[in-house]
Amino acid sequence: MKIEEDEIVMPGDKLGIIEQYLPGEGTYDDDGDIKSSVLGNVKINQKMKVISVVSDAKPALLKVGDIIYGQITDIKPQRANVNIECIKDNARPLALPYMGAIHISQAKKDYLEKLSDAFRIGDIIQAKVVKITGDNVDLGSTDDDCGVLKAMCTRCRDYMHTTQKADELQCNTCNRKEKRKVSKNYIND
Ligand SMILES: [Zn+2]
Repeated sequence: MKIEEDEIVMPGDKLGIIEQYLPGEGTYDDDGDIKSSVLGNVKINQKMKVISVVSDAKPALLKVGDIIYGQITDIKPQRANVNIECIKDNARPLALPYMGAIHISQAKKDYLEKLSDAFRIGDIIQAKVVKITGDNVDLGSTDDDCGVLKAMCTRCRDYMHTTQKADELQCNTCNRKEKRKVSKNYIND
């Protein structure tokens, strides 16, 4: 089987032998076999006899306005820290492990007395990127589709479901009620 230009290969796929080509970017020499080290497209420089694999899975960069999914890692009086897992509708991995924060004034449209009435550690949330300053990513969850997507009861750690009341969740097991800034996309299963 001959490898063709632009063919998509997986890490570990054999591309040829060392007598045919020089191993280029995205490849390695495995005891005389040239194999791909990345998922990407094969590029063959016929003049130089170099075979390479170019990965086009460029990492995603966050920008203002992006909708993200993340998890609450800490609640401070003024800000909830968020581990940003991925950008909505973007399958690419993030370039960096991003941390973001929701300031108490950006959590809800209405006045919020304390942040623990909107989020708790471990909550899965949707939020919007409102500002990026260097490494600091400010998030907001005032939109209806933003807020908590999935939360666990702080008493028994079972999942909770939405109730008739806005921004209230109830435990599936112990029936405890807790306040959250609930997204309209909350997952009730
Ligand atoms: Zn419970």
